[in-house]
Amino acid sequence: MASLVVASRNEHKIKEIQAILAGQAWQVLTAHDFPGFPDVVEDGLTLEANAVKKAKEIAAFTGCPALADDTGLEVDALGGRPGVYSARFAGVHATYEDNNRKLLRLLEGTPLEKRTARFRCVIAIAEPDGSTHLVEGKCEGQIGFTLKGEGGFGYDPLFIVDGLGKTFAELSPEEKNRVSHRGRALRLAAQLLRELGPLTPGSGV
Ligand code: IMP
Repeated sequence: MASLVVASRNEHKIKEIQAILAGQAWQVLTAHDFPGFPDVVEDGLTLEANAVKKAKEIAAFTGCPALADDTGLEVDALGGRPGVYSARFAGVHATYEDNNRKLLRLLEGTPLEKRTARFRCVIAIAEPDGSTHLVEGKCEGQIGFTLKGEGGFGYDPLFIVDGLGKTFAELSPEEKNRVSHRGRALRLAAQLLRELGPLTPGSGV
């Protein structure tokens, strides 16, 4: 079975990715399988640049095809912020709570109809020879006025999914995967991997 390395240390994401790629002809490997797995600095100005950088560096390090995602929350009333800076919205060491609090503060006085937003997830698949492929998934919604739900992570308790009237944090993991930006992008990535067939093997480290 061919190996595919997930270029992330975020356990929430790894679980979502493994669930969606389960049953595919890929053995999903993670940082735990490679001693010295590097932490790639996400200093790109776009989600695409960060996803490509992470996937390429991990493919070069491991010698296996690598999959990396970068996700941003784009809030229309904030001109698309926090976008590529979603993780660091309230500062370099910001917690999910800090970021959610800042988002609510900036949207104070903004009515529901103007709180439209979307999650955008870009996935890059890099082969050890350096060639890359990109797919993207989106999920449209609105930013609520209070945190709701216990599930998920990040901005999930504030993001009310269009057509469902519930936040991501109020959905089960399966329900979230069905409609989420990352679920959509991962299904496109799985399709792309099937179309690409066996990827170029590399020498690794
Ligand atoms: P990353 O760069 O893909 O790790 O995502 C950047 C930030 O976006 C994370 O630190 C989270 O705050 C947020 N984020 C990414 N995906 C999700 C999601 O599915 N739900 C809620 N927040 C998310």
